[in-house]
Amino acid sequence: MNPNDELMRNVANRVDAESGAIQDLFVRMLKINAVNPKMGGPGEGERAGFLEEFLRGEGFAVGRVDVKDSETGKTRPNLSAKLTGKGTKNLWFVVHMDTVPEGSRELWLTDPFEPAVKDGKIFARGAEDNGQSLASSLLAMRVLKKLDTPLPFNVGVWFVSDEEFGSTYGIRYLLDHGHFKKDDIVIVPDSGTPNGADIEIAEKGLLWFKVTTVGKQVHASVPSKGLNAHRVGMKLAADIDETLHRRYSDVDTLFNETRSTFEPTKIEPNVANVNTIPGVDVFCFDCRVLPKIGLDEVVSLVEERVKAHEKESGARIKLELIQKDSAGPATSDKSEASILLAKAVHRVTGTEPRFVGIGGLTVGNLFRKEGIPTAVWSTIDEVAHEPNEYCHIKNLVNDAKVFAALPLLA
Ligand SMILES: [Zn+2]
Repeated sequence: MNPNDELMRNVANRVDAESGAIQDLFVRMLKINAVNPKMGGPGEGERAGFLEEFLRGEGFAVGRVDVKDSETGKTRPNLSAKLTGKGTKNLWFVVHMDTVPEGSRELWLTDPFEPAVKDGKIFARGAEDNGQSLASSLLAMRVLKKLDTPLPFNVGVWFVSDEEFGSTYGIRYLLDHGHFKKDDIVIVPDSGTPNGADIEIAEKGLLWFKVTTVGKQVHASVPSKGLNAHRVGMKLAADIDETLHRRYSDVDTLFNETRSTFEPTKIEPNVANVNTIPGVDVFCFDCRVLPKIGLDEVVSLVEERVKAHEKESGARIKLELIQKDSAGPATSDKSEASILLAKAVHRVTGTEPRFVGIGGLTVGNLFRKEGIPTAVWSTIDEVAHEPNEYCHIKNLVNDAKVFAALPLLA
């Protein structure tokens, strides 16, 4: 028998025994509206106060970083609590306290701020995103504290603000002010799958751009008098599409979409009738770029094509970047964050997890950009931001077992 087996069984039993108390706390927390103030909500203040009081009551020393939000005038709180282990290295579970608004009330079967417990699920705004993982990490911390087993490093939580609106007053602020170190192990349980088998260790860079072509509008029967902006735009869009795909055809099998993607998406309406030659044409691209490719390089290539078509057609063509978020380097599957999380998932659930890359961007990317290895994982049905958002209580409890096991497997 593995000497760890008894410890693991003990951890699992303790998590089960403590889970009722944490579920009660969780339900009370979900009643406190914490909609991001930049989305019209009251912000994280009251919820943070509630959590701080709980953490202090449990005997944790609580760190608090309040950030003044000049846009809304609110104070944006960030809380930390940690258990001391050997050495100076930290393992952090980073979860966010803010939520998006509830959306149309008539789509909810129950009150979004009056949690309903039904069929093993808890329904409320923020029950999944990111409440479930906040509760799981609290449950894991409580068990590790009571267990009194020596820890190989410090183990802590950060409950942060502003994740739903760019993380300016949360993770970005904390990273800029030295609250994380390069050798920290960071787990961000804010994305996941229903079977909990995917550990996300890489994300693609995101680039959105818009191209506006201006020609000359005339009657469709006399095209020689005008300049058809739509034709120029179509040719340019096709050229950009082909050029980007040809240049960036590299494959990375970590990702489900194994290549960088370059998709023409939105176009803006031009003329209202068939017999007018459009004087203006607007199209947009959504690009998801493998982390090893620099976004500036992609933009330069697009600029080059724009200039060439401008010269050839005589139209004026403007390129605008709508969003440009580069990807940090992928977290190695040999990093401690990856290995320990995979071990813990395997030990607790019996499934063999796989490492994946995704096309979207999570706050995990902010840590990777600072060179901090980060793994993103949780077990969720992916109902974030939807009406009737919920979490499975069983996932809350099982994920807590994984989080509590993680440092003990080092
Ligand atoms: Zn979230």
